Amino acid sequence: MGDRNGKPKSFYDCTDCPAFCCSVYDRVQVTPRDIRRLAKHFGITEEAATARFTKMYAKERVLRRKRDELFGVACKFINPETRGCTIYHARPAVCREFPITKRCAYYDLMKFEREQQDDPNTIPVVKITFKEIKK
Ligand code: SF4
Ligand code: SF4
Repeated sequence: MGDRNGKPKSFYDCTDCPAFCCSVYDRVQVTPRDIRRLAKHFGITEEAATARFTKMYAKERVLRRKRDELFGVACKFINPETRGCTIYHARPAVCREFPITKRCAYYDLMKFEREQQDDPNTIPVVKITFKEIKK
């Protein structure tokens, strides 16, 4: 979701990453404004864009996903070969903002494991789920 097509940002480089952020999250939130942007990009109605590209997840509208060789499942808009976003200029707001911080934890993890495994090409295939614990 980061700036895969741009210059490296701070301490991570999206062009040197298999796009964990586009793969590990079940929910990539889509706002009405995002849907308008998607509809314009594809030259279709907002209703068609909503039906074709989004679905409900609990009470939230999110992007649809598809099978992915690397992570099992990923955003429907990822290019499986380049790991780039096929709708870069029309991507949702959350994709533009991620990861907000100067570091990307997924990128750090990948670098860490590449050092640990002594293999500059290895990719740690991670999954993430969220659970709330009572304090
Ligand atoms: S829309 Fe693009 S940037 Fe956002 S999750 Fe999907 S592939 Fe990644
Ligand atoms: S996981 Fe981090 S480094 Fe990788 S594409 Fe996403 S924002 Fe960029």
